[in-house]
Amino acid sequence: MKKKILAYQWLEQPVYDRLMEDYDVRLFENPEHDTDFLEFLREAEGVIGFGFPGNAAMLDKAPNLKIISNVSVGYNNLNLAELTKRGVMGTNTPGVLDDTVADMAMGLMLATARRIPELDGYVKQGLWKGLLTNDWYGMDVHHKTLGIIGMGRIGNAIAKRARFGFDMDILYHTRTKKPEAEERFNASYRSLENLLKESDYVCLVTPLTEETRGMIGSEQFRLMKPSAIFLNISRGGTVVEEDLIDALQQNEIAAAGLDVFAQEPVDPSNPLLQMKNVVTLPHIGSSTYETEVAMAQLAADNLTAVLEGKKPGNLLNLDVLGR
Ligand code: NAP
Repeated sequence: MKKKILAYQWLEQPVYDRLMEDYDVRLFENPEHDTDFLEFLREAEGVIGFGFPGNAAMLDKAPNLKIISNVSVGYNNLNLAELTKRGVMGTNTPGVLDDTVADMAMGLMLATARRIPELDGYVKQGLWKGLLTNDWYGMDVHHKTLGIIGMGRIGNAIAKRARFGFDMDILYHTRTKKPEAEERFNASYRSLENLLKESDYVCLVTPLTEETRGMIGSEQFRLMKPSAIFLNISRGGTVVEEDLIDALQQNEIAAAGLDVFAQEPVDPSNPLLQMKNVVTLPHIGSSTYETEVAMAQLAADNLTAVLEGKKPGNLLNLDVLGR
């Protein structure tokens, strides 16, 4: 009998088809509403997908599970200690999405600074009747200072574009200094406080961890320049969203570009959606067809390795091996 694989929420078709050759794969697009989800989970040896809640309560319902293979680089959905306790491996898909996410970050920066969605609406609504007055002007991106919080794989890809494409000065903040990034992009390390004070653009791209949860709140927004543009492409939980709303309403910062939210999908009544100076995206950073397929394939490789008794390439809870 083929081993059971639960595909959680979504899996790109070519990768799904390839897995089907060797496994009994079942996609649950709406797991909360599928009545046989728990039944299948009980027998599944592998889970592959986006955002599977890898917590104690869910793991209790999956006694045969050997791997949760995330189709994402972020893994804040996984309680790694609980996985290890049960001998379940957790994996992610680092590296293959860096350029795609960085392209999106630059797009969001330009869209927010140059007010592209707002101006698009202006043209399409037939409001363009003459020369635009200066209340429609945007803010330059080139030659400004970009502060990157989280100079990892994606942070580096953003710094490369900003430095060499837009002549930006790069500041960064991380827990440990990154001499290679300093060398490559002429980037300068700053404390979080100084990065916020000095940057024209602040781009948040850390993982969501207990340490980074709510790391940008009212105190941090107050430190930013009133002309600053804030970009969040990490996870919604790294920002205190009510404080971001307050900061925008009080003009403590000029604008925000957001790919991620505290609640996803975002509540239609969220005040951020009413603000002209906020550009929103539906958590789409890595979502080009090529990159989504590459991520799904990497996730499938991780999953297959584990089910064949091998160590997967992107194991997150290494301590599971010593059990
Ligand atoms: P990464 O290579 O692990 O880089 C993470 C960076 O964050 C590192 O430079 C790390 O440096 C820094 N960091 C970690 N904890 C920190 C803290 N407490 N304070 C300051 N800096 C901290 O990860 P990545 O591949 O670049 O991905 C980063 C995150 O982007 C993911 O975890 C995910 O949440 C998000 N993401 C979002 C999308 C999207 O669609 N919007 C797509 C992909 C990824 P130190 O360890 O030295 O602190």
